[in-house]
Amino acid sequence: MAIAVGLAGALLLVAAATAGVVSSAFGGGGGGGCVGAVHPDADAAHETRATTAGTPSRVCAEVSVGGWTRPVVGEAGSGFRTGDRPGHDGVDIMAARGTVVRAASGGVVVRVRCNVGGDSWEPTGGPMPCDSDGYPGLGGCGWYAEIRHPGDVVTRYCHLIRQPTVTVGEPVTAGQPIGHVGSSGNSSGPHLHYEAHEGYPATEDNAVDPIPFMRRKGVSL
Ligand SMILES: [Zn+2]
Repeated sequence: MAIAVGLAGALLLVAAATAGVVSSAFGGGGGGGCVGAVHPDADAAHETRATTAGTPSRVCAEVSVGGWTRPVVGEAGSGFRTGDRPGHDGVDIMAARGTVVRAASGGVVVRVRCNVGGDSWEPTGGPMPCDSDGYPGLGGCGWYAEIRHPGDVVTRYCHLIRQPTVTVGEPVTAGQPIGHVGSSGNSSGPHLHYEAHEGYPATEDNAVDPIPFMRRKGVSL
């Protein structure tokens, strides 16, 4: 495990360099990025124990050799296009309200939006319909963000509790916090609805099952 964490730390730097990210670009983003808190050479085992114990907002995510990480730590629930939910284009990861949601890999934020009941709005800075919990049948992703990764892969993060903490055009690194778990939009309770798309822009047609997709990237959801 210590080797894996050390490797992850080194690879974070690789991922940042590959994406052309300047570390200072997200230094003032409130809560900071994951990169600054990584200590690849020391206390790797201790940090691993801390992850198990909780306080996810203060602990860096492990990043795979391919530069990917879990967007949130939690158990996968409702899956991709199941018999019950053929239109469910992602996987639901169960996590407590307020849990930090992280960029699954490096890229650029291409969408930050509030989406409920068939309508979408750009953030206004004021109160918005996505600031309160939704319910099943309401429809929509609630507060969500999309990240475009190299190779025109897009990941989407839905039902955030409030406006994502990143903005359109902002470069992000794997594991960087982008928001917090909530239940906005078409949601029965706090969880992250996570989508992966092999194509840009993200559409229903290029959505793929996130679980095997992430497995190919070296990450078990
Ligand atoms: Zn879902």
